[in-house]
Amino acid sequence: MQTKASVDTVSGTKVTVVGVGQVGISIAFSIMTQGIASEMTLVDVMEDKLKGELMDLQHGLTFLDNMKITAGSDYALSAGSKLCIVTAGAQMREGESRLDLDQRNTNILKDIIPKLVQYSPDTILLIVSDPVDLLTYVAWKLSGLPKERVIGSGTNVDSSRFRFLLSERFDVAPTSIHGWIIGEHGDSSVPVWSGVDVAGVRLRDLNPAAGTSEDTENWNSIHKQVIQSAYEIIRLKGYPSWAMALSVSVLTRAILNNTRNVYAVSTFVEGIHGVQYPVFLSVPCVLGENGITDVIQQTLTEDELTQFQKSAATLNEVQSNLVF
Ligand code: NAD
Repeated sequence: MQTKASVDTVSGTKVTVVGVGQVGISIAFSIMTQGIASEMTLVDVMEDKLKGELMDLQHGLTFLDNMKITAGSDYALSAGSKLCIVTAGAQMREGESRLDLDQRNTNILKDIIPKLVQYSPDTILLIVSDPVDLLTYVAWKLSGLPKERVIGSGTNVDSSRFRFLLSERFDVAPTSIHGWIIGEHGDSSVPVWSGVDVAGVRLRDLNPAAGTSEDTENWNSIHKQVIQSAYEIIRLKGYPSWAMALSVSVLTRAILNNTRNVYAVSTFVEGIHGVQYPVFLSVPCVLGENGITDVIQQTLTEDELTQFQKSAATLNEVQSNLVF
């Protein structure tokens, strides 16, 4: 082969995924199959697993658009990443307190984040590891990056579960239902019932009590199912991965392609919806090549505001007990 032009060693759509467990490798596979990035680096502490996953992914490239994939424990491989996705995390040990686990996860980020920023000083960080809102705050503190460049995967997946369950009840495609879950990812998330609509026809116009305790149609059972579904998936198959992977890959696409799509992701919310603490929670955000450019402030009911602010206060208390 005769070489005609030099090949750039770093491309503008390079992604690094740190942590190649169930979630990280599903995200990597989803990014690869969707042809979103031109280059992807996988980083973990488990060298053998990394090598095996790298070979397995590379052997599938014949069937897809070409991309460069590398893997290793050396963060130099991640140099020049436009986006770094962090899925590395510790599982709860028997008898361990929530705070001890939070501190262990903080310690893992203390190891990872400075190295990512050292090799990609202008990167955008997308945190997936749980508890995602807390760890996005930790990553922001450790990185020194501007707030808009540190994002948590947040309630994008909760919103997707919500829309899927609503779609079954309305019998239309999930993409034709609009609905948002905001606030803390997981048990304390806040469904915005006033924003549920199909083609501009609002559920609340059809049933003003939808989602409230006076609702005879019991729409709120759908939010309860959203919360339960993560536990149910863990009980049934051990870990949630596919929906999470697709959720993260659409966020990746929005950032790398500068699409300005709106997704519910975890962002710095001090000053938003009456929050008085420096915490990260999910609200609808416009995503593009510089991270989060705008936050969409929905009109919330008193109840929704109270729940949102309560999560902020709880997070702030946990944050103040962490040692950096
Ligand atoms: P997992 O245990 O399968 O994988 C974790 C990976 O992180 C392992 O491969 C491990 O070797 C790696 N790791 C640990 N410490 C590291 C370090 N210092 N540097 C580099 N790599 C390191 O877990 P999983 O099921 O893939 O889940 C990963 C994380 O994502 C967990 O925190 C989980 O709770 C979280 N999660 C979040 C969501 C969400 O919606 N935000 C959904 C599912 C899972």
